[in-house]
Amino acid sequence: MSKRDYYEVLGVAKDASEREIKKAYKKMAMKYHPDRTKGDKSMEETFKEVKEAYEVLNDDQKRAAYDQYGHAAFEQGGHGGGGFGGGGGFGQDFGDIFGDIFGGGGRGRQRQQRGSDLRYNVELSLEDAVKGKSLEIKVPTYVSCEPCDGSGAKKGTSAKTCSTCHGHGQVQMRQGLFAVQQTCPTCSGKGKVITDPCTSCRGQGRVEKTKTLSVKIPAGVDTGDRIRLSGEGEAGESGAPAGDLYVQVNVNDHPVFVRDENHLYCEVPISFTTAALGGEIEVPTLGGKVKLKVPKETQTGKMFRLRGKGVKSVRSSSTGDLMCKVVIETPVNLSGDQAELLRSLEEKMGKSSKKHSPKEKGFFDDVKKFFDDLKS
Ligand SMILES: [Zn+2]
Ligand SMILES: [Zn+2]
Repeated sequence: MSKRDYYEVLGVAKDASEREIKKAYKKMAMKYHPDRTKGDKSMEETFKEVKEAYEVLNDDQKRAAYDQYGHAAFEQGGHGGGGFGGGGGFGQDFGDIFGDIFGGGGRGRQRQQRGSDLRYNVELSLEDAVKGKSLEIKVPTYVSCEPCDGSGAKKGTSAKTCSTCHGHGQVQMRQGLFAVQQTCPTCSGKGKVITDPCTSCRGQGRVEKTKTLSVKIPAGVDTGDRIRLSGEGEAGESGAPAGDLYVQVNVNDHPVFVRDENHLYCEVPISFTTAALGGEIEVPTLGGKVKLKVPKETQTGKMFRLRGKGVKSVRSSSTGDLMCKVVIETPVNLSGDQAELLRSLEEKMGKSSKKHSPKEKGFFDDVKKFFDDLKS
């Protein structure tokens, strides 16, 4: 998904005054500030968006750069292969572009606007996220126009240098004492004019197309991770470089395991006989069932740690653990005989003796103390 327009984010007009921008920001910040929205993720995102928009539009120089180049003014150059892309922020390109507009010498032709970044959401099962997966995805996007090779000019012709700005993309206007640089109105800053546009793309240099891409999801990814495919975003206009494609990962809930970072958690029911006498049970892992020894006198809720049976981290070589919580099941549907056996067992253990129930004893001691304290 491409970024929203900063003016749109703040809900102000393109020619809004500094005061109007400040006012709009204050209003939005009050509404979306994390202190007020208490952990609502989408509100938090909006707040970040608002803050970013304000930081740009409230700064004359940044605003001027944004007006000319859009978001491309602040994006990192798209280098390097896949891997995990960092957040946006202000890239180094900014400085360069500045040189062009302000202190810049003669080579002030506007940079062509890089194509937009795209986001593609994938839903993965826990198993696929843990093992990794190769996927084919279909992305509706813009690609460079083939007949004109992205130039936008009809085959056999080429764009001509703009006669108004002589290819600089900027023209000097006099306003009183000052000479002001402005985007050339004839070529919109491109420095070139297409007199004979390509018919396939109507001079845009790019066409809409659904692209099929294969994506390798690395083993160990989790919800929130994103994989950057450099240069697989929208093609830019008039042969400008393409944006990047971000594959955003969302891992679905699993019926057995809950994941926390690289650890997995699961609950395993055991009979009270096994819990009392000890025994061996089977517990599920992502790699199949394994045996787990339950010591005698195990209480319900006890957590067993199976080292290395969690998820192998996508960022390091470490592997998490599997935590198995045993939960003692109360037997149901007892026949008369079975119930009788239980009753005689309880009698044998002696109702008054709390020797066999460590928690119960402690609990009643606490209750007694509680009431004694109330009385005193
Ligand atoms: Zn021009
Ligand atoms: Zn074309």
